[in-house]
Amino acid sequence: VVILENLAKTFGDPGTNKPVLEDVDLKIAQGEFVALLGASGCGKSTLLNLIAGLEEPTAGSMEIPAEGVAFMFQDATLFPWLTARGNIELALKLRGVPQPERGQRADELLKLVHLQSSGDKRPHELSGGMRQRVALARSLAQDKHVLLMDEPFAALDAITRDLLHEELERIWRHTGRTIIFVTHNVREAVRLGQRVLLLSSRPGKVIREWRIDAEQKKPEQAAVLANEMT
Ligand code: ATP
Ligand code: MG
Repeated sequence: VVILENLAKTFGDPGTNKPVLEDVDLKIAQGEFVALLGASGCGKSTLLNLIAGLEEPTAGSMEIPAEGVAFMFQDATLFPWLTARGNIELALKLRGVPQPERGQRADELLKLVHLQSSGDKRPHELSGGMRQRVALARSLAQDKHVLLMDEPFAALDAITRDLLHEELERIWRHTGRTIIFVTHNVREAVRLGQRVLLLSSRPGKVIREWRIDAEQKKPEQAAVLANEMT
């Protein structure tokens, strides 16, 4: 569903500035869960922004679904004056979903992220993990087949992150979406990805690729992979 060929991105003058991304080739199949791994500053967010159409590539070509993609940003913030349900309903409204379907769909999404009893709370009344779940429900409300996630759980404690990993995996299986998940955490990449891609720094390109089968989804695999990376 997503094909990138020879994609490159340079900010500013290409004559003087070094490219952030170079020769990025990527083919992502329908329903795949891809984890994109790389050090801070290597261009992970830039790559997602290109796929989302928020930035123009300097060179190369892309194929993305005509309906566009949903995005869960690195610094996803909810509107503080809206409740959890209100934040989700707003995304549905922007998509043109009329009432009363909007309310019903918001309830379904709240249930999907296990927040059915917290829908009327505003963001400051929720924990960080709960806010991330609202943000996840909001990105699902966009109802696109492809979901881009930019380090969505990086700021959470390990226990909350584990819970959200389970939840995300369940949602992925349940909805059949294609997910591109960016992280700088090897364990997280192995835990979630069917395929883990490693992006190099300056310029960023895919330098390694691992297929992770269910058998390997153990903590040891992350250690092996971390070892291979260095
Ligand atoms: P992190 O893990 O810290 O989020 P990242 O891999 O997402 O890092 P990017 O945000 O994609 O990295 O940034 C890659 C490089 O591109 C950095 O050197 C950054 O300074 C540069 N960059 C990103 N956006 C812009 C911009 N709009 N203008 C100029 N330079 C930019
Ligand atoms: Mg980033």
